[in-house]
Amino acid sequence: MGAQRLDGKQCASSIEANLLLRIEQLSHQGVVPHLAVIIVGDDPASHVYVNSKIATCKRLGIQSTHIELPSNIGQNDLIKHVIQLNEDESVHGILIQSPLPQHMDEEAMTDLIDPTKDVDGFHPTNLGRLVQGRLDGMIPCTPHGVLRLLEWSGVQLRGKKAVVIGRSRIVGMPLSLLFASRGIDLTVTVAHSRTEDLAKVCAEADVLVAAVGIPELVQPQWVKSGAVVVDVGINRVEDSTHERGWRLAGDVNPSVSEVASWLSPVPGGVGPMTIAMLMENTVRSAELMSSNE
Ligand code: NDP
Repeated sequence: MGAQRLDGKQCASSIEANLLLRIEQLSHQGVVPHLAVIIVGDDPASHVYVNSKIATCKRLGIQSTHIELPSNIGQNDLIKHVIQLNEDESVHGILIQSPLPQHMDEEAMTDLIDPTKDVDGFHPTNLGRLVQGRLDGMIPCTPHGVLRLLEWSGVQLRGKKAVVIGRSRIVGMPLSLLFASRGIDLTVTVAHSRTEDLAKVCAEADVLVAAVGIPELVQPQWVKSGAVVVDVGINRVEDSTHERGWRLAGDVNPSVSEVASWLSPVPGGVGPMTIAMLMENTVRSAELMSSNE
């Protein structure tokens, strides 16, 4: 029997339905949530991500401002844009699409964003709250999306063992903190490229999350029977059987489905959840800003 599907598309549409009601509420106060997205350079994957964020804004009635800057722009010019958006009271969320060109300091740019408008949740103030076990800040979108998908699917988490493969600032580390926080109550192991005998570490997990960036790294033999497996990976792999010559692959081999009780698909799993959480953070920021007026 195959694993049940952790259906990110369906979960994201139920979140969008709720957001539509909240956006309608805000409209009675004359407030339209407004997300500003800055993209620097011409990385094709980044443009695809930004376009799908902007399309979701449109669908929900969230205003979006799309600022495209050439890759040779100086860091000071980018700083000016961020400061302007911080000061613009009509803007509720600011996102700088990663990666930035090499001559720019991505973390320094994130630090400049007003933490109340930091809808990606990467500002040290927001990540710091997560370290303190406080879930009242902006929670990074992919980790939050993973948690919400598990909760929506009715997966029991309290007291279970989780293994998160990956310790990045945007996925693995904040997800591990979120999983271990009070109320979620997973017991978390963080694995990374220096972890010895990764297969053995993974085999202990009741909940296994792969956020690595290596296509189909996680094999069925690594997975405990009945474990819940979340695949965060988005990798483009060459595939001549596809018309376009490539396909998307996750970090988990699809045959894990034979062993796991739940598995998130790629695409259609964590990806749509990340965008839904970005929209939720933007709406939340608009609500907080309008209640403080
Ligand atoms: P990073 O490259 O920043 O981090 C990868 C992590 O994986 C690092 O902690 C690294 O360890 C670890 N790692 C690398 N190789 C191995 C290995 N052989 N064994 C164990 N651990 C290893 O990637 P991100 O966190 O940004 O992204 C991870 C994946 O998730 C990518 O495929 C990305 O495309 C996808 N992604 C998907 C999103 C979505 O919405 N679905 C959103 C964001 C990312 P170390 O720290 O030691 O280097």
